[in-house]
Amino acid sequence: MDAATLARTPAVDRARTILRERDAATLAAMVELAAIPAPPFDEAARAGRMRERFHEIGLADIAVDEVGNVLARLPGADAWPRPAAADAAPPGPVILAAHLDTVFPAGTEVAVRDDGGRLIGPGIADNARGLAALLALAHALVESEVATRRPVVFAATVGEEGVGDLRGVKHLFREGSPWREATGFIAIDGTGARRIVNRALGSRRFRVTVTGSGGHSWADWGRANAVHALGLAIGRLARLTLPRRPRTTLNVGRVEGGTSVNAIPAEAWLELDIRSEGPGVLAELESRALREVEDAVAEANGRRRRGTPALGLSVERIGDRPSGETPPSAPIVAAARAATRLVGETPELVASSTDANIPISIGIPAIALGAGGRSAGTHTTGEWYANDGGPEGLERVLITLLSVAGVAV
Ligand SMILES: [Zn+2]
Repeated sequence: MDAATLARTPAVDRARTILRERDAATLAAMVELAAIPAPPFDEAARAGRMRERFHEIGLADIAVDEVGNVLARLPGADAWPRPAAADAAPPGPVILAAHLDTVFPAGTEVAVRDDGGRLIGPGIADNARGLAALLALAHALVESEVATRRPVVFAATVGEEGVGDLRGVKHLFREGSPWREATGFIAIDGTGARRIVNRALGSRRFRVTVTGSGGHSWADWGRANAVHALGLAIGRLARLTLPRRPRTTLNVGRVEGGTSVNAIPAEAWLELDIRSEGPGVLAELESRALREVEDAVAEANGRRRRGTPALGLSVERIGDRPSGETPPSAPIVAAARAATRLVGETPELVASSTDANIPISIGIPAIALGAGGRSAGTHTTGEWYANDGGPEGLERVLITLLSVAGVAV
């Protein structure tokens, strides 16, 4: 069924009307959710509120998993995971997800103010808008009694941002998890109604620490210097040639070391971030970069005075987001394109790092979509949201979701 026909189906048309009629309630939900702090690794309060709302809306099988993701199912379709006794496996569910966490540390003022219709507050768009969209879509689907062919599961996930390293979705799709049988995954993240994230931008992050004996800058001259070694490493990393396609980047983002201008530093560390749209390129760059670091430390050790202690090197992986792609020809991407056109926008396929990275990396068709509206200042305390095209954005997610889940008519 094409997107326009699907949208005209009586139950789906009812759901679209409900989304538009409840626009103000969706904005109120954004304001409320954004004002509940959700710093990295501390999403429980906001998760608790999502759980309550799922309950009020009338979703089934509401649960909070071991890491704090809140899951619920649209009633009506088969239960999932299926009961052990069932002999015929129901089709795998379609998961609609939005992340709970923000980048803002505990203590950040997160209240939202309304500046002539523009909502201003940290996390108001990323991802209070996504969470409110999850609620609005759940509400519209329950009220309109749309019967889907596949189970539809709503997930509010933890740990999407920076240091969270996608831990919510990593848990959801861990080895042996029944959710790995999902037939589709749609992350609602941020705003807009045009872009379709079908490529997962992968990244790996490392903390590289060089340690030595230290010493006096004059009396102990000749001992290996941890900062010098790190400097050699940074020089080598900065000179690496990276492919332009697939787009690949390298960044030494933090450096620290030493205690005094007249002391040979005993320790120095750096934090390195590498990213690529190509999984193979990312793996290759990782080994190249780490080899450069090892060679730099070896070079520094080679220059030290004989008989003095050698520097040690330790590399800790502090982030790992896999890359990959849901092919442009995949039905989920086609569905999102059609839904985008249906709301009068021109679809654009892009790469980004979202909750969809994990399902994409294990071969589950997955995309990320904005939740309508406009925003700017993401990840700053001046973040704002304007509701231009808000309802259309939600309608686009609705039609995409229902195209993938199928509607029984
Ligand atoms: Zn986000």
